[in-house]
Formats: sequence, C-alpha cells, structure tokens
Amino acid sequence: MPIVPKGTPWHAGFPDKMKEEKKRHKSRCYYYNSNKNYCILNEARCIGSAHCDDYRENNNH
Ligand code: SF4
Repeated sequence: MPIVPKGTPWHAGFPDKMKEEKKRHKSRCYYYNSNKNYCILNEARCIGSAHCDDYRENNNH
C-alpha cells in the first residue's frame, strides 16, 4: 500500500503503484535466476515480483 498523508483520499497514489506492479515480472528482475526460480539477492526461492521490496528492473530485457 502506498504511504499517504492523513486526510488524503484512500485511492490517491494507487493508479501509479498498480501500473508499476502490473508491468513487473520476476523474469525481468535483476536478481532472478530463471533456471531455478531462485533469488540471488535473498538466496532463496523468488517470492514473486508483485510485492517484493527488493525487485529491481533489469534493463537488459
Ligand atoms: S525475490 Fe524479489 S528481488 Fe528476488 S528475484 Fe524475486 S522479485 Fe527479484
């Protein structure tokens, strides 16, 4: 959820966040190893890009 000041309508800032999450995909994450569904940053299985705070867009795709 976006952090918004008190008194701000609940939906403020939501569309941009949703757009950003929609275009995310773990296969485009810099830290993703597609051979193993593995995150090289966290050294664990990838939790998915939608809500991952560590997601980083790989611009080589
Ligand atoms: S867990 Fe997050 S940082 Fe790691 S590969 Fe998946 S989306 Fe990327």
